[in-house]
Amino acid sequence: MFNKNALKNYYAILSGEQKPAYLNLPKEELKKKVETAYAILDSCELCKRKCRVNRNSGEIGVCGVSGLRFNSAFPHFGEESFFVPSYTIFFSGCNFKCVFCQNWIISQKREGQDISVEELSRIMLKANSFKNLNLVGGSPAPFFPWILDALQKTELKVPVVWNSNFFMSEKSMDLLNRVIDVYLSDWKYGNNVCAEKFSAVKNYWGIISRNHKTAFSQTDLVIRHLVLPNHFECCTKKILQEISSSFGEKVVVNLMDQFRPEYKAREYGLNRMLSQEEFQEAVSFSEKLGLNFIT
Ligand code: SF4
Repeated sequence: MFNKNALKNYYAILSGEQKPAYLNLPKEELKKKVETAYAILDSCELCKRKCRVNRNSGEIGVCGVSGLRFNSAFPHFGEESFFVPSYTIFFSGCNFKCVFCQNWIISQKREGQDISVEELSRIMLKANSFKNLNLVGGSPAPFFPWILDALQKTELKVPVVWNSNFFMSEKSMDLLNRVIDVYLSDWKYGNNVCAEKFSAVKNYWGIISRNHKTAFSQTDLVIRHLVLPNHFECCTKKILQEISSSFGEKVVVNLMDQFRPEYKAREYGLNRMLSQEEFQEAVSFSEKLGLNFIT
């Protein structure tokens, strides 16, 4: 049983004691955030790829999208127990190129349709019948301006969850502040070499560590870690140690054992499922560190 104190804002909103954070912002401040976010698209640096393409005039960067590209939205029952049922919006496109992505049709093929911000707002409203609004992809980062704009047009009663690979730029982290209620991160690698090999990103460790600290300073934080076969020493151990020293028990960690060699994983040496022993090693190490974790 995890310690619920790590999710104070989440539970306060669910119980009706608190409103979602963005509704507490003065209207002018939220409007300013929306304008600033759209302006970033002129030379895009919504994430740390910093492609500097003009997405407002149709150019595309690493994530492969210029406008608001939507795949699907539905109540999700496979998330952490405290989030379920979670009304999840999948955006098409991603700033990562993970060779083992289970959602590669969405993230890399970008299947879906272009929608308007008004349509996104109508979709978001459906979240009020569930426990939260869960923004995911691919990655929600390339769509942040439209997400913010749609929130501005939507009266939610439930927490807003930012479900992401955490490669946001400093500017995006600043704009996300006081908008997001729960950060749900996917901390994949414990070093830059594995990150570059499997997701084609540079400077991963510094960026991801910094963004976790920033997110933690803003609101509730839940950290997912998918344990990869043969990556305990270089990835799992490093990540768990960093979580322990930076946050202790004050965040929730979800250790995940469902790695499957999908998409291009086998070509990169990730050619088998995780063994029970490997997962148990991650669990035992989390216990030893006294982390607030679930599996
Ligand atoms: S969101 Fe990131 S990957 Fe996409 S164009 Fe902007 S900086 Fe590049």
